[in-house]
Amino acid sequence: MTDTLLQHLKTYFGYSSYRPGQLEVIQAAMQGTDSFVLMPTGGGKSLCYQLPALTLPYVTVVVSPLMSLMKDQVDALKANGVSAEFINSSLSREEILQIYARLRQQELKLLYVAPERLLQPQFLDRLSELGVSLIAIDEAHCISQWGHDFRPDYMALSILKQRFPSVPLMALTATADGATRQDIVQQLGLQQHYEYVGSFDRPNIRYMVQEKFRPLEQLVAYLKQQDGLSGIVYCNSRRKVDELAAQLQERGYSAAAYHAGMDSTARGSVQDAFQRDDIQVIVATVAFGMGINKSNIRFVVHYELSRTIESYYQETGRAGRDGVNAEALMLFDPADIGRIFHWIDQEENEQRARVGRQRFQAMAAFAEAQTCRRLVLLNYFGEARQTACGNCDICLSPPKQFDGSELAQKALSCVYRVGQRFGMNHVIEVLRGSQNQKILQYGHQQLSTWGIGQDYSHDFWLSILRQLVHFGFLQQDITQHAALKLLPAARPVLRSEQSLQLAVPRLHASSTNKEKDK
Ligand code: ADP
Ligand code: ZN
Repeated sequence: MTDTLLQHLKTYFGYSSYRPGQLEVIQAAMQGTDSFVLMPTGGGKSLCYQLPALTLPYVTVVVSPLMSLMKDQVDALKANGVSAEFINSSLSREEILQIYARLRQQELKLLYVAPERLLQPQFLDRLSELGVSLIAIDEAHCISQWGHDFRPDYMALSILKQRFPSVPLMALTATADGATRQDIVQQLGLQQHYEYVGSFDRPNIRYMVQEKFRPLEQLVAYLKQQDGLSGIVYCNSRRKVDELAAQLQERGYSAAAYHAGMDSTARGSVQDAFQRDDIQVIVATVAFGMGINKSNIRFVVHYELSRTIESYYQETGRAGRDGVNAEALMLFDPADIGRIFHWIDQEENEQRARVGRQRFQAMAAFAEAQTCRRLVLLNYFGEARQTACGNCDICLSPPKQFDGSELAQKALSCVYRVGQRFGMNHVIEVLRGSQNQKILQYGHQQLSTWGIGQDYSHDFWLSILRQLVHFGFLQQDITQHAALKLLPAARPVLRSEQSLQLAVPRLHASSTNKEKDK
């Protein structure tokens, strides 16, 4: 079987070897085992279902939320001689009927569908009659309301397991923290599944955060250092993109704007010019990057704070695809935090606003981190690590360290005493001996940890707790109002078996000054 697969890998895809994880996932599918595949973008997820589809007897159904990506993949497959089609609302009735006919003739190896189409009763009936070998669910995090891109359409996919109990399901995603991951497995009802979790580390990207004072001057100084190399500057709004692109052009930079408000021809020509190195810098909203395949992007600047670590990671991940050194620079103004919280609060759906706030909190904590940025990112994605990377701003010019063992013990035992059911603010209030209503309501003034941290300010403790999260001693459970929970690594610290160096919190004198200026 492995020989045939390898043969097909060469013939249809032109590759001579597998990327990490691919073979194992492919074998699971061939054996009829469910699987969960977490690989970063560009890791090679599509091959995991495309290759088995070629040898399995019946059609492989691929559920995908994005019409444009469906078409791109199907076009690429057809160009390689694989019989694949997609069905979505962009097709006419005639076209759909033709595809049904080919399906009946067992001519199709792969069929891409949007979830709402797949779940139409007649469609499900037709598939059960004709037989299905594998169902792949791309962007599987869309099924989870803890994910950053929840789509109600996806939720109904949980019936697939009942409808097709003997057909293996393959759930694929690039973005899933622990809570989302568990939720995907549960919602889809994966049975004794094979799980592949790829590394999210991009060692050649140097992560850097600069406090934002005069952003335009800072950016220009940075571009000077880059000396003509290609890069992207991300902003949060179209207005800002247009303004900044114009400012850079005025200063003689080869820069262009890119956002979803521009028509597709204009966007296409900017993208092509960038690809050909005719434009050095693209100033863009998050709309830029989906289809881009440029491997020598040397830097990605975040002119404004992202709303989630997922999107930050995705955007910075466009740098250095060729494996050569690249940089990710974020300009960070602590005042942006309040602004973004305000936007998030405009969200009407209370549940979504809550998840949005919690995800954004993690992003803000990254920007304020006193610990290795890479550790923060990787621990966020559930890739537990405790050794600093040596290739981020914190590692390269570290903040002052002190022996934080005792403070860490106080904080960790306080998390334990409150039953691992409360978030950072409450834990800090308990540590600082507050008598606020919530504390009295739960009787937390009687805990042994109440008031043991009163010598330090709220912000000081916030920094300590964040460091403990970033180092993988604590985790914030987004399914429970970001309640702090102890992770296994906390145990030796609590038992005084391990000492701990923490960064002296760099408390923002600057942000207090700003308040005064207003
Ligand atoms: P993902 O969906 O995980 O973002 P893709 O499936 O789009 O990633 O694959 C990313 C790129 O890697 C594509 O250009 C693809 O052709 C390439 N690729 C995938 N598998 C292999 C392989 N085994 N060898 C070489 N290139 C591969
Ligand atoms: Zn580092």
